[in-house]
Amino acid sequence: MAHPRVPSLLLVSLLATAACGTTAPSPASPPAPAPEREDPAMTDLAAKTARFAPTDLSADVSALPESERKALAHLIRAAQVMDALFLRQVWAGNESMLASLAADDTRTGQARLTYFLVNKGPWSRIDHNEPFVPGAPAKPAAANFYPPDATRAEVEQWLGGLAGTAKQVATGFFTTIRRGPNGGLMAVPYNVEYQAELALAASHLRAAAAATTQPTLKAFLESRAAAFLSNDYYESDVKWMELDASIEPTIGPYEVYEDEWFNSKAAFEAFITVKDQAESAKLQQFAGALQEIEDHLPIDAKYRNPTLGAMAPIAVVNTVFSAGDGNRGVQTAAYNLPNDERVVQEKRSKRVMLKNNQQAKFDSVLVPIAQIALAPADRGKVAFDAFFTHILMHELMHGLGPHGITVNGRATTVRQELKETYSAIEEAKADVSGLFALQYLVDKGTLKASMEETMYVTFLASAFRSVRFGITEAHGRGQAVQLNYLLDRGAFTVNADGTFAVDTAKIRDGVAALTRDIMTLQAGGDSAGAGSMLAPRGVIRRNTKAVLDKTTAVPVDIAPRFPSAAALLSAY
Ligand code: ZN
Repeated sequence: MAHPRVPSLLLVSLLATAACGTTAPSPASPPAPAPEREDPAMTDLAAKTARFAPTDLSADVSALPESERKALAHLIRAAQVMDALFLRQVWAGNESMLASLAADDTRTGQARLTYFLVNKGPWSRIDHNEPFVPGAPAKPAAANFYPPDATRAEVEQWLGGLAGTAKQVATGFFTTIRRGPNGGLMAVPYNVEYQAELALAASHLRAAAAATTQPTLKAFLESRAAAFLSNDYYESDVKWMELDASIEPTIGPYEVYEDEWFNSKAAFEAFITVKDQAESAKLQQFAGALQEIEDHLPIDAKYRNPTLGAMAPIAVVNTVFSAGDGNRGVQTAAYNLPNDERVVQEKRSKRVMLKNNQQAKFDSVLVPIAQIALAPADRGKVAFDAFFTHILMHELMHGLGPHGITVNGRATTVRQELKETYSAIEEAKADVSGLFALQYLVDKGTLKASMEETMYVTFLASAFRSVRFGITEAHGRGQAVQLNYLLDRGAFTVNADGTFAVDTAKIRDGVAALTRDIMTLQAGGDSAGAGSMLAPRGVIRRNTKAVLDKTTAVPVDIAPRFPSAAALLSAY
């Protein structure tokens, strides 16, 4: 096996920032010379790592004026700080382990380092956090947000004794819980806990603010820099919602999944991206057609909404650099932020869709799956434009169809009535009605006929990609429902050789029928109906499993490299 090339941009930033952190990495002893025979542990590690296809994520920044390219370079430097902070948040031992892995130039050491950087720690995230570096403990559920010697019960009891502001602060997104001098627990705000790094990140953000000529970007960056120092993120979240610029940065503490105790502590991440002008224009065009699509949904007219509200904001962007919680394990392809309820109530939330991440996943995962899952004649019809346009339409279709409903004279919502079946049903709805909507626009002449030739086949291939992640999660389960429903109607078929195909004579009706069935049970708040939709179909059937079994060599996801970011950093 050749030495895997470490994503050097990431490593350099991690080591540089780790070295200026509060805990100096312990110097590693020189490694013993590498034995050149493959040991089974190495083979296993190589196989694990191979599931993430190294892929360039680049964005065309050549059309941006120099002021904005300069701003991007400063933003990338700020984002690198998020890498180091996230590493420390995951586990207190992460930085010193990274330093010793980086100093180990045996093949085994380098292989561990590569996979460590993919996972941002010594645990394989897609293997239930199984450790892959000798000596690594089990992944701490409390991450590094709570004292290592505290139990969950102790923290719960302490939180239970707090009230008012003290409780708000201790359970808030932006504090860690530490032991005070007397051994008791105390909340430490992020601007104190991560003081040196946040000051550094803030200075990069201010430099970016000084470089850009775009007012809303400048305003966001200045206020986010201030938030890093004050620990008050509200104002900068508002400014983030008001962004209207060619550069779309997301940087700061956001998601709470890493805190497996209480889901209350925010992990640092960054997505430094540029707006995709062509896709943004397409989105506007679709937005203008939404009411007409609603008016033609294949459901009883009384269930249609005569006046759709304003569309929730969506930004389509290309990633230049991502960091921290935004770049570990399986890559994010889209996100909704902010999480602060006050901002969401005032400004709603924004969905950011990372187009080049989707393209990379399409190339590295979906195309190879299509080669296995589809009949030879259909393989060439799998197209990225159909894939991405359907994803855009999926997002928009969440806003169409029944939401607020009346059941037995009582005003309620689909979400409330469908309870635990809601998410899988709603995801299936957005998918299948997205196909319906694209077909509607093809028939109208808004979209080219080539969309019709590619979208159903592409959707079929992508169904295999989705259910491959499992069907416990809403998207996978919703996808299984559609696959099996359309198979049962003969709109998808299975060939003698086990490959799948689209029946072009039946697919349109199949899509309309499933859209009608799902939206009708949503309109009635029919949770029993949702159950009978899900139970027989939210499963992996034998023919599907036979295909999945052949995809074991296809990557699960990508390991991104950032050539545009590297070029910007060396230029500015
Ligand atoms: Zn969705």
